Amino acid sequence: MDAKTFDAKSLLDTLFDKSILFKTGVDGLYGRSGVFEDVIERFERLVTSIGAPDKATRIHFPPGMSRATLEGSGYMKSFPQLAGCVHSFMGGEREHAQLLGMMAAGEDWTELQQATNVVLTPAACYPLYPTVAARGPVPDDGVLFELSSYCFRHEPSKDPARMQLFRMREFVRIGTAEQVCAFRESWLERGKAMIESLDLPCEVDLANDPFFGRGGKMMANNQRDEGLKFELLIPVTSIEKPTACLSFNYHRDHFGQTWGLKFADGSLCHSACVGFGLERVALALFRHHGPEVEAWPASVRDTLWGN
Ligand SMILES: [Zn+2]
Repeated sequence: MDAKTFDAKSLLDTLFDKSILFKTGVDGLYGRSGVFEDVIERFERLVTSIGAPDKATRIHFPPGMSRATLEGSGYMKSFPQLAGCVHSFMGGEREHAQLLGMMAAGEDWTELQQATNVVLTPAACYPLYPTVAARGPVPDDGVLFELSSYCFRHEPSKDPARMQLFRMREFVRIGTAEQVCAFRESWLERGKAMIESLDLPCEVDLANDPFFGRGGKMMANNQRDEGLKFELLIPVTSIEKPTACLSFNYHRDHFGQTWGLKFADGSLCHSACVGFGLERVALALFRHHGPEVEAWPASVRDTLWGN
C-alpha cells in the first residue's frame, strides 16, 4: 500500500488479497478476518479506557431497531436515501407457491414481502433517546451512555471506508447545553490525542450530514453555520478527501423535543454524541501501517496490545 496507489480500489484489493476482508458479492458488505476483528476489539478497549473516568452506562443495541422509533426520530425527513427497512414474507400457502414461482422465473419476488416493525439501525444512538425518556425525568447532572452497534446505511460503494454495514461506538451525553457542550469539547481533545497515539495523521474540521434533497442543502448550511458537527478526518483512500473516522455532534434540544427528554422542572434536555467509526479506524491503521500487524510501529502496537 504505497503512496502511488493511494486510492479506494487498491486498498480494497490489497485487503482482499491479504485475506483481511472477504467478498460477499455486494459492495460495502464484507467478511472480516480474525486479525481485523482483533484490531477493532483493541481499539474499542482503548476508547473505553479513555472514557472510563466519566463512568458511562454501557448499552449494546442490536443492529435492528423499532420502526416506530425511526419514524418518530425524523430520520426519514433528512436521510430517506440511507434508511433500510426489514421486510418479511407474511403470506399463506398460495402466496408461497407464487413466491417460489416468481423466483424460479427470475421475476421480482420482493413485492410478496411486507415491512416488519424492524428497521436497520442507522446510528448507534437512535434507539437510546426514547429508552432514556421512558425512564422519567433526567437527573440535574445529566446522563452519559456508551453504546455500540452495527449500523446500516444504503450507500453501496467500492470505497472500503464506505461500508453498508459497519460498527459504531458512541458516547452520548444528555443534560444541559453547558454539560453536553463541555462533554463534546473534552472528546474533541481526547479523540485527537487518541488518534495521534496510533501514529495516524488527522485533522478536525467542521462538517455536515448528507441531508436529502433541496431542503437538505439549507439544513446542511445551518448545521455548518452553527458549528453543530465536527469530524476527525484521516486520509484512508484519498489524501484530498480524507475519511471521517470520528464525529462530534451537538443536537441542541432536537432529541429533547422529539422524545420529551426533560429535567424534573420540565425544561428540555440537550444532547451531544461522539461517534467512532470502528471499521474506518481499522482501515486507517492498515492503510498507514501496512497489512501485517506484527510490523506496525512498536508505539502503536503498545497502545493497542500493551494492556
Ligand atoms: Zn449519535
